[in-house]
Amino acid sequence: MPNLILRLALPSPLRRLFDYLAPAGVSRSALQPGVRLRVPFGRREMIGVLVEVDSQSEVPLDKLKPALELLDAHPPLPAPLFKLCLWTAQYYQHSLGDTLSWALPVLLRQGEPAETRQERYWLASKGASVDDPRLARAPRQRDALKALAQHPHGVAHSLLGQLQLNRDSLQLLHEKGLVRVEVRRTQPHAKPAHWLAQPELPLNAEQRAAVNAVASGWGQFNAFLLAGVTGSGKTEVYLQLIHQCLQAGKQALVLIPEINLGPQTFDRFARRFNARIALLHSAVNDRDRLDAWLAARDGEADIIIGTRSALFTPMKNPGLIIVDEEHDASYKQQEGLRYHARDLALVRAHQEDVPIVLGSATPSLESLHNAHSGRYALLKLTQRAGGASQPRFLRLDVKSRPLDSGISGPMQQAIAQTLAAGQQVLVFLNRRGFAPTLLCHDCGWLSECPRCDARMTVHQRYQELRCHHCGHVEKQPSNCPKCQHVDLRPVGAGTERAEERLALLFPDYPVLRIDRDSTSRKGAMDRLFTTINKGEPCILVGTQMLAKGHHFPRVTLVSILDADGGLFSADFRASERMAQLIVQVAGRAGRAEEPGKVIIQSHLADHPLLVQLTEQGYFAFAEQALSERRSAGLPPFCHLALLRAEAHKPGQAEGFLDEACSEAEHLLGELGLTGIELLGPVPAPMERRAGRFRAQLLLQGNARAPLHRLLNHWLHALEQMPSGRAVRWSLDVDPIDLF
Ligand code: ADP
Ligand code: ZN
Ligand code: ZN
Repeated sequence: MPNLILRLALPSPLRRLFDYLAPAGVSRSALQPGVRLRVPFGRREMIGVLVEVDSQSEVPLDKLKPALELLDAHPPLPAPLFKLCLWTAQYYQHSLGDTLSWALPVLLRQGEPAETRQERYWLASKGASVDDPRLARAPRQRDALKALAQHPHGVAHSLLGQLQLNRDSLQLLHEKGLVRVEVRRTQPHAKPAHWLAQPELPLNAEQRAAVNAVASGWGQFNAFLLAGVTGSGKTEVYLQLIHQCLQAGKQALVLIPEINLGPQTFDRFARRFNARIALLHSAVNDRDRLDAWLAARDGEADIIIGTRSALFTPMKNPGLIIVDEEHDASYKQQEGLRYHARDLALVRAHQEDVPIVLGSATPSLESLHNAHSGRYALLKLTQRAGGASQPRFLRLDVKSRPLDSGISGPMQQAIAQTLAAGQQVLVFLNRRGFAPTLLCHDCGWLSECPRCDARMTVHQRYQELRCHHCGHVEKQPSNCPKCQHVDLRPVGAGTERAEERLALLFPDYPVLRIDRDSTSRKGAMDRLFTTINKGEPCILVGTQMLAKGHHFPRVTLVSILDADGGLFSADFRASERMAQLIVQVAGRAGRAEEPGKVIIQSHLADHPLLVQLTEQGYFAFAEQALSERRSAGLPPFCHLALLRAEAHKPGQAEGFLDEACSEAEHLLGELGLTGIELLGPVPAPMERRAGRFRAQLLLQGNARAPLHRLLNHWLHALEQMPSGRAVRWSLDVDPIDLF
């Protein structure tokens, strides 16, 4: 009999497969690619996914270990998803095993059965009687049996508490054979007969055109960029497309950005449809996640809504993919497998032959470029639905104006007027904490983080200095640590300081802060929204959390305290991000009857990008920014890959990158590749972070194919390099942050 060698993908960063012998007593036919096996790995055990079965191995047979256990009768991951994972691993130059473990629900990674929730039911055994002599001196067991006997169909284990059935008593009864346990699979809900729970809105002409364009091509791949100003009714377009998709018996996948949007979006979909909706985001627990994943896979969920990783949810009958707020940076995973869910959604739509809609009021420059070049069809919604008008923009030059905790005099007046008119104000400042740094006025000491090349932020409320880069926390000193004097002053303003100042300036109105610090407690966000939705005049102060999708009908003034950061940052994407943030925050204003106004404070009020943005709108800005990118040869007019390295000792990371750079140069010659530039190695913009010294090497290519050809060979070489063992390194394909 030939040997059965199993080639497995294991959750290891090593970009290779691992050979094992088949577990004892398992037949060849049970070993289908895609099934999971438990295997020994060093001193640990791991769960691997079978990629192929072979009869030979490069490893001598007597060195191969047998796998311990076969976990699945059928591959849990359907073939199309497996194909997507293979593509992903290849494109991002990541180990297949690790890619699969990012794609699979946590419980499957841990070896749980790939089956829908099963529940134990407790039932009284046939003929069991409360008069059983064994219960004569066990009144609690007698009560339990009596109560249980009233439920002839049994009681689900999870309901025991509610019915005041004592688990220990039941267990004792079970041991006596008076009670039995049955394992039942939770029944899926039946498919509803009518999809609409609520009538659809009559579409305006632009919405209608968008729906018709997408609907003209069901059952085939087509990519659409739905560029609709904030409040233009993009969601209504999604809903009506999903309705058609459901009517055709297909499933829809809707990706939404991270944080806070989950429940809101879910409610809107749940109100519209009698559909089985599976929700997959970070706040959903592992068990519910697995159930949602399985329901989607088995065609028992009609609509799948989720954040980034929901992209990897299998679907039995895929019909439509929607990526809402496609420009949002949370679609890019910044650790481990550094994938971009929007980009992969396109690959998936292509593989599954379904239409995909990318929606945003502020599309990414990449997507606009793809629309210009004809890869995506551009669908525009230029008017706000429901009659609200677009907000007006004013640039407020604050050069040589005194700033009071970041708020200029004219801004204060505008806020006062709005409140007096009974309306709400939104103050946007993308910086948490009280002040970005603490300064000694006597000796110039600054609150530098001991582990990073960065200043620690003052969090006055907790009397703490916190590093936002590594999480380091210190008590806020009352004397200067260097000269012992007491003249320590917070410099600059964050949301906490703006909140404090605004509360003093406008004592008659509530000031509500919305940022990661103020909403970290459960339910905090809901409480804030309840207050805001009452509609009384108030001031909301917050970070970009405020920019995301919310609807604040009574906000008529948006105050943007600082637009400068985006205009002179070293990061070439900073201006794009700033423009998106400004437009998204502005989009919160005047969404109902009263028109909205947006005031932007800046020291660079005449900056061409800011002028363009505020006078002609986002799309004019984007054209300008795209032409700047084109002349600078930056993405989307080139392709990037960034090799990052970090080490405990200075110079170590550069040493590795120098070697990596020579290797790349060597490979370029050997493979005869052109149009690729190697930039660096250079120290990272923040060289030291969390106690490690960091450096990077940027690869810039005119075309994707040669760049990927190089990466393929290069990564194999890097894995062999001895200098790579002493450093932590990672490759980021299509990075969105260059630090
Ligand atoms: P977006 O997703 O583009 O921000 P929404 O879909 O949330 O916009 O729509 C904004 C508001 O306009 C919502 O209150 C929505 O109910 C309303 N709306 C959308 N489409 C229409 C329409 N065709 N007729 C009337 N109101 C609409
Ligand atoms: Zn000092
Ligand atoms: Zn730090």
